[in-house]
Amino acid sequence: MEYRVNWRRLAAVGFAVALVATAGRAQAPSPRVSAAVSNVRYDLTVDSAAMESRHIGVSMTFTATGTAPVLLSLPAWSPGHYVLLWFARRVSKFGAEADGRPLEWRQADYQTWEIHPRDAGEVRVHFEYLADTIDRAMAWTKPNFAFFLGTNLFLYPVGRGFDWPATVTIHTEPTWRVTTGMDPAPEPGRFAATNYHDLVDMPFFVGRFDLDSTFVADRWIRLAWYPAGALTPARRDRTFGWLRRFVPAEVAVFRETPFHTYTIFQVSDSVVNGGGLEHQNSQMDEVPTDQLDATWLPGLYSHEFFHAWNVKRLRPADLVPYRYDDAQPTRWLWVSEGVTSYYGGLAQVRGGITDSLLFFDDMAGAAASVAGAPPTALGDASLSAWIAPTDGSGGLYYPKGAMAGFLLDVMIRDASDNRHSLDDVMRGLYETTWKRGRGFTAAQWWAAVERNAGTTDHRFQEFARRYVDGREELPLDSILPLAGLRVETDSIREPRLGISTALDSGEARVTDVGPTGAAATAGIQVGDRLVSLGGVRVSDYVSFGAFRARYAGTTLTSFPAVVRRDGELRTIQVPVRLVVRTLVRVVAVPDAPAKAVRIRHGILGGTIDR
Ligand SMILES: [Zn+2]
Repeated sequence: MEYRVNWRRLAAVGFAVALVATAGRAQAPSPRVSAAVSNVRYDLTVDSAAMESRHIGVSMTFTATGTAPVLLSLPAWSPGHYVLLWFARRVSKFGAEADGRPLEWRQADYQTWEIHPRDAGEVRVHFEYLADTIDRAMAWTKPNFAFFLGTNLFLYPVGRGFDWPATVTIHTEPTWRVTTGMDPAPEPGRFAATNYHDLVDMPFFVGRFDLDSTFVADRWIRLAWYPAGALTPARRDRTFGWLRRFVPAEVAVFRETPFHTYTIFQVSDSVVNGGGLEHQNSQMDEVPTDQLDATWLPGLYSHEFFHAWNVKRLRPADLVPYRYDDAQPTRWLWVSEGVTSYYGGLAQVRGGITDSLLFFDDMAGAAASVAGAPPTALGDASLSAWIAPTDGSGGLYYPKGAMAGFLLDVMIRDASDNRHSLDDVMRGLYETTWKRGRGFTAAQWWAAVERNAGTTDHRFQEFARRYVDGREELPLDSILPLAGLRVETDSIREPRLGISTALDSGEARVTDVGPTGAAATAGIQVGDRLVSLGGVRVSDYVSFGAFRARYAGTTLTSFPAVVRRDGELRTIQVPVRLVVRTLVRVVAVPDAPAKAVRIRHGILGGTIDR
């Protein structure tokens, strides 16, 4: 799934998702099977007239075998984005025809259309798709640009499997660009896929945007960035530099690069969320305009890139094959997402983008997130992704899964005297499950862990029982010293305002005021621009940290905030409201035993001892 910018933002993001998830579920999808269809082609109209109305014109043409009803469905979700979005909600002006005459059709359920062919032969169905929502799994348009994903637009015949080929033809302005991970067909403007899973896993950019590429790890990697001009030479060179560092470190874990080319699609706008969605040969990232130079970007790219192996290929058996009509829960998102976060961080250290201190800070941030959430089993947190829980455990499989991966890596290295690692587990399962067309089961995961650790005792069964199936606190204090590391915790009391802000031209604009927070009490309003807080000038997100640090543990009862409202500066007294925050640090133990130091170096360097 998508990586979130900050571990602490998970709960807030989960709330937004929950609003969408409540739609639907009143009706079971149709159990019927469609008549067979063949020769499937999709034609998409993505020209300036379509962009003007924010609709994509969709046409599907196929050959019917006779008069038996054809049932066509649109997906309920997009793999990697574990939330039900019901793409059929955005369909309008549906129609079907053959030989230029309308065909009878009816809705079989809310995402399925039943078409009645008059005879064997070519049938065309068509509709308009509303593309007005920016979300990495949904279609979005601007006057000169469109982003969409096949799950949004491509109908499939119900109950006929997904192993059938199709082509996609884009009808657009002659001067506009089309970029997708799909293979080009011989005809210009046309693309081809050998099966539906691939078809709907390849995002499209159509219109005006920046495009550039570099050659890394024996592969071309493209940057397709919207809007045009966002990919400045400085950003391009910096991003290429990150790719040259972290991509080889990720390839080294699996020892193969499973795609021909790879594309980083990126949309920047003031309305986007921060984060990305992985695909088999691309990633789609949303980066707020004011974050285009943020330090978390290589972490976003490396996380999504690692998914090219972990989850797009090596995948829990529950997710093989994908189904598109309904939720597909699994207890293993902590491996698919959490372990991906662990490696996304490690790849940056192993490639030399960040140093070990930043990696340990990242892990400490994950540990703090876990500490601040209710006790939740890794398996349960994974299952709950689909309902975006509101108890504070939403998205917990990211930070807790990352920590679990970290601990398992240490345990395997310790048990094997640093001759094996979690890298071996990931690579081994990739070979024995994905390469053989399967997903991995719990038994296969733990067998791979035990085989690489070389243990016959029950320590990993215990790990599974207590932390994956159980809700016990992860044993950081007993495991991390095996890698010469230690967790230090401290709690501080720091001020909270109870607002959300967006940075805009060096000013923080208030976008939300919590009804019971300090800011609401003081009369701070949505739309106010924060100039300074307690004497700390507000210019970027670091300013808020400086403000909190200045007032941590203070005995003052209020502080002055300067805001710009309607062009005028106002000074507002804001009551001090302190909340307790647990600080967690992961630090190297200076006099750690030699074996522990070898393990620590092995993790950070991606090496083992022979
Ligand atoms: Zn992810």
